[in-house]
Amino acid sequence: MINLKMYSNGEWKTSANDDFNEVINPATQEVIAKAPRATKEETDEIIQIAKDTFESGEWADTPARERARFLFQIADKIEERQDELVELEVINNGKTKSEVAFDVADAAFCFRYYAGLITTPDGQTYHVPDAMQSMTVKEPIGVTGLIVPWNLPFLMSVWKIAPALAAGNSIVFKPAELTPVTAMTLFEIMDETGIPKGAVNMVMGKGSVVGQTIAESHQVDAVSFTGSTDVGRGIMQAATGNLKKVSLELGGKSPNIIFDDAEFETAVDYALFGIFFGSGQNCSAGSRILVQEGIYNQFVERFIERAKKIKVGPGMDEGVEMGAIASHAQLKTILNYIDVGKQEGATLALGGNQLKENGLEKGFFVEPTVFTDVSSDMRIVQEEIFGPVVTIQTFKDEKEAIDLANDTEFGLAGAVFSQDGAKAMRVIKKVRAGITWINTYHPTYVEAPWGGYKQSGIGRGLGTFGLEEFQEVKQININQEMEPSGWFSE
Ligand code: NAD
Repeated sequence: MINLKMYSNGEWKTSANDDFNEVINPATQEVIAKAPRATKEETDEIIQIAKDTFESGEWADTPARERARFLFQIADKIEERQDELVELEVINNGKTKSEVAFDVADAAFCFRYYAGLITTPDGQTYHVPDAMQSMTVKEPIGVTGLIVPWNLPFLMSVWKIAPALAAGNSIVFKPAELTPVTAMTLFEIMDETGIPKGAVNMVMGKGSVVGQTIAESHQVDAVSFTGSTDVGRGIMQAATGNLKKVSLELGGKSPNIIFDDAEFETAVDYALFGIFFGSGQNCSAGSRILVQEGIYNQFVERFIERAKKIKVGPGMDEGVEMGAIASHAQLKTILNYIDVGKQEGATLALGGNQLKENGLEKGFFVEPTVFTDVSSDMRIVQEEIFGPVVTIQTFKDEKEAIDLANDTEFGLAGAVFSQDGAKAMRVIKKVRAGITWINTYHPTYVEAPWGGYKQSGIGRGLGTFGLEEFQEVKQININQEMEPSGWFSE
């Protein structure tokens, strides 16, 4: 049992009110950790520490190459503790070892990427009239509130902490209540580097208390949130008090469009990966497969044949390809959506059940589940299920594919499979989504921007855009002729 602690001003703390939540392994329901739940007052105190540190300039004014040195050290230490991080994340979140190994390696690269980026030139000069030299410089925003969900606990934390820290901000970070375990390891690593006290702070607890306090606080200058669209909406409202900068990475219901002329086995393979990777608990999951009429029957048959073979089980077990659902609440949500699908008249073509045999009875496992004969007005087609549940629809032509693809309130991701390059390009450009692929699904690169259209979010993480989310732009005009303006008569 790990006794988790919060971290602020270079010290480890619990909550003075002795309030904790139990953290479980979703593959066994074993309690693996106890996490403190901070009060509103404790959260405000930690925000104040971040504010005082920012104003002291101890981190913000540290030269970029020195800040980069800290980030490089963090990356090295993540790699040194790779095996431990993988195991902790697997037992906390339920994912498989190979999924988490990818996340941890990507996290180390993310710190290195922003360490490099922060030392590259970033201002601009402008050709303006008069004897004026006009230019811009980028500066840190101040105190950044970073709030993350439970589906990719370690990677989502790093996607925010690395650019916010590189830019010179102070950080108030909040992990999800369900998955705070690897966050503590990350803060241990940052502590070991000797980073100035108060630059990085972590507060644990309820979203409605700790998260809400961060979103509302007038001492916080920017809030970067990844989570559900409903909570994102609330964060935006809470942020209006001091008009803090808001960036939101929210939910999705992403279309995966497969044309008759796609390379068939490649399309089937990526369609499986698109939905069942991470047990479907991915914001960018390809949860709506759209298949052109000519290959529809053949596609469904082959997709189901392969989905049946996916080995579901505890993420640390050898050969397991799909892990547990992260919580009992999420398990119930998924099973409820499966019932909704049946009631709506969709055909349950595969799965639909919780797996309770062969040692899985203690954990939260769901079969790969496929619905066919669905229509766009069904809730299982419109709403984010966040589990291993996919709908397969059919379409006639390019126009219908685009119409169906865009027919939800979300716009996070989408893909097109076709060997006709011009057609694939035409269609992908019409898909209203921020992250798209042609003839592949899911590859994500720290170098490229991540974020959604429509109700899938505001702003972009990662790449150069991800750094700018944590920076202010200042215009500086330098008068090169030291003379009075003469605007008012003497
Ligand atoms: P969630 O919205 O319930 O919680 C996310 C975080 O917000 C948690 O830390 C939670 O404690 C906190 N929170 C909850 N209520 C809050 C409030 N009132 N004020 C401030 N903070 C609050 O989401 P979840 O269930 O943890 O995660 C799943 C969701 O995250 C899915 O919708 C998924 O699509 C989305 N997601 C999006 C991306 C992306 O990049 N677009 C990535 C991963 C997950």
